[in-house]
Amino acid sequence: MDRLRRFMFGRYGGDELSKALLILSFILLLIMNFVPKDLRFLTILAYIPVIICMFRIFSRNIYKRRNENYKYLKIKNNIVMWFKNNINRIKTLKNYKYYTCSNCKQKLRVPRGKGKISITCPKCNSSFKGKS
Ligand SMILES: [Zn+2]
Repeated sequence: MDRLRRFMFGRYGGDELSKALLILSFILLLIMNFVPKDLRFLTILAYIPVIICMFRIFSRNIYKRRNENYKYLKIKNNIVMWFKNNINRIKTLKNYKYYTCSNCKQKLRVPRGKGKISITCPKCNSSFKGKS
């Protein structure tokens, strides 16, 4: 245990991006089970994320690895938020209508079934007419 700790000293170790790379590898390996036999050599590709993951864990360039992880988390967060927003939007589409403010591009939600209404953007205070 002590030798491992000494070996890992000054090395980056695992993070969210490494975990994602392992999962990606695992998924690719699963997919390879359904690939025709003469394309099985592509299995090698499934090991590339693992190799990158290992490289990152044992890397001594902690600053660079941290930056990569930060970028990955930012992209992941954007994707998660996009899905959350759109799922929520679809769920509430029956009761609400969505507008985009022509002035500041802020997304606005108004209740349906109120007829012609004047919509005021809470962000930039510009107002426009719309049907709800
Ligand atoms: Zn606005």
